Amino acid sequence: MADARNSSNPFWEKPLSELDRGQWEALCDGCGRCCLHKLEDEETGLLYPTNVACELLDRRNGMCIDYAHRKKRVADCVVLNRKSIGSLDWLPESCAYRLRSEGKPLPPGII
Ligand code: SF4
Repeated sequence: MADARNSSNPFWEKPLSELDRGQWEALCDGCGRCCLHKLEDEETGLLYPTNVACELLDRRNGMCIDYAHRKKRVADCVVLNRKSIGSLDWLPESCAYRLRSEGKPLPPGII
């Protein structure tokens, strides 16, 4: 039986585990920041974003130019899904997936 508390909530307020495919995809605002290469300090583990983007990132709109085949074309592409989301602390703090996985609300206007 569905949780009555969540049935009337907008989808972006629901737990990630309850989102359908379309709702999941709609959370992304296309900022493209997850598609920028990062450097990791081996001693501290801190991550530093660079301005070097994945070859498939369209910088004009922040979208992947071959989203359906991204994993085949870029071997180290990390696919965001319900399994991987909990270990993706490298996502920017503004990312809706990170915010929702941490139980935080989305700021107004993000959807
Ligand atoms: S960082 Fe998050 S919101 Fe931005 S493009 Fe990546 S998945 Fe989408």
